[in-house]
Parts: sequence; structure tokens; C-alpha cells
Amino acid sequence: MHYHPKHDLLEQRVILVTGAGDGIGREAALTYAKFGAQLVLLGRTESKLREVQTEIARLGGAPSFTVTLDLLHTTQEQCKQVADALATQIPRLDGVLHNAGLLGDIAPMADLSMEMWHEVMQVNVNATFMLTQALLPLLLKSNAGSLVFTSSSVGRTGRANWGAYAVSKFATEGMMQVLAEEYKSRHLRVNCINPGGTHTKMRASAFPNEDKSKLKTPADIMPLYLYLMGDDSRRKTGMSFDAQPNRKPGAAE
Ligand code: NDP
Repeated sequence: MHYHPKHDLLEQRVILVTGAGDGIGREAALTYAKFGAQLVLLGRTESKLREVQTEIARLGGAPSFTVTLDLLHTTQEQCKQVADALATQIPRLDGVLHNAGLLGDIAPMADLSMEMWHEVMQVNVNATFMLTQALLPLLLKSNAGSLVFTSSSVGRTGRANWGAYAVSKFATEGMMQVLAEEYKSRHLRVNCINPGGTHTKMRASAFPNEDKSKLKTPADIMPLYLYLMGDDSRRKTGMSFDAQPNRKPGAAE
């Protein structure tokens, strides 16, 4: 995507990123901070969140908050407590990037355990839903809120062996479409990003033998992540965007 945002695109914006300690989420958090946003860094591993928080401070970014939350075991009540605590620290949320995700086993449907199915659905769908529900009041306080979900090419066209992960990403696309309809006359837009194959730990576990030098890095795909959080996308809602539009799904180029 050829997008050249203004250096102060996200000035005065408060943005929450899930899975902010590693991979694409870490890069998105640092990028949003560089463009002026104040960050809420949510993730499972506190030490990684603290490291990102320190890096934001080193870059001269606005002081960020960390929220340690394991989405695999979270409940509706816990998500509400997180939102209530945040409401005492920040005036509103202008953006939420649901990025945390679990790949699960790459295996035929016939071989998937119920336990694995539940884990992938819990992290990718149930926790995303519970967190969204809890954070909506803070998002609706913004005059231009942006809610962004993370999808995948296997969330649009099914692929053998991608089992629970693929189904969870179809559900993510559905959640985005339903919410976009529900809030289309309010100041909240709702969209999906499909990052496309990107050099992270998750990608390496799905494709251990590919040539990683041919993959885009998280930094390469940030233009779309910025576009969807800034004013230039204000009128876009209910859409699913590709961070690498010309890329063939699956193997590295
Ligand atoms: P990574 O595995 O590199 O990072 C995932 C992040 O999610 C980590 O910060 C991880 O935390 C966090 N996370 C995982 N489980 C939980 C949990 N139970 N509770 C809280 N946080 C959790 O993945 P990517 O950066 O590659 O993926 C980011 C998103 O992009 C995912 O939704 C993925 O499905 C999607 N995607 C990625 C593609 C790719 O090629 N990389 C392609 C298509 C979609 P921790 O650091 O503690 O492990």
C-alpha cells in the first residue's frame, strides 16, 4: 500500500493494541506511538509489554499503559474490570487493534482435538468479543473511533488443514461486519486487516521451512495499520483490507 501519512497523524489519539509484546502487534504499537498516539499495550507476557513501553519512552512517545491479560483464560467479568480500570486512566479510546492470535495445530479437521478447537476459538473469537464488548463505551467516547480486527486469507477462503484457525478468522470477519452495521450511524468504524504472510514467530511455526528473507516484515505492512487508525479512513467501515494486496496466499513469494 502506498500511503504517506502526516507525521502527526495520530496526535491526541489513544489506541489499545492486543498482543502488543511481539510480532505485528509490537510493531503496530511502536508505529502508532511514533505517529503521536498514546498507547495501551495489552498482552500475555508482562516483560515483553514493559520492553515495548520502555522503547516508546526512548522514542519520545507519550507515556503508555500496560495491561497483562491472558486471553486464553479471560472472562467477561475480567474484561469489564480491565475496561473499568482503563476508564480511570484515559478519557476515551480512539482506536482498538485486535491483533493477538493463536494459530493452534495445523492438522486435518478429522484429527483436531476439542481442546485445541476451544483454545483457538477462546483466544481468537471469544476473548476478542468479550474485550470488544467491554471497551465499546470507551470507544464511543471518541468522535472518530476505529475498531480493527485481524483476519487472514484463510478467513475468507477455507484451506485444508487450517482447521480451527481458519474458522476463527471467518468468525472474526463476521464479527466485524455485524459491528460495522450496528455502529454505521455512530462515530465508530469497524474494519478487518489481513496482514498477509509476515515474518513473525506465528508465521515461522506455520511454515518452518520457507525462505524467510522473501517475507515482508511487520514494519513493511504498517502503512495500512496507520491508514485505518487515522482520519484518512474516516468513511471506511465494514471492509476487509489486505496489507499486501498483490500477494498470493500461502507460500512465500
Ligand atoms: P505472533 O505469534 O508473533 O504474536 C502474537 C501476539 O499475540 C503475541 O504478542 C502473543 O503474546 C499474543 N498472544 C497470543 N496468545 C495470547 C493470549 N492467550 N493472551 C494474550 N496475548 C496473546 O503473531 P503475529 O504477529 O504473526 O500475528 C498477529 C496477528 O496477525 C494474529 O491475529 C494472526 O492470526 C494474524 N496473521 C498473521 C500472519 C503472519 O503471517 N504473521 C498472516 C495472517 C494473519 P506473547 O508475546 O506473550 O506470546
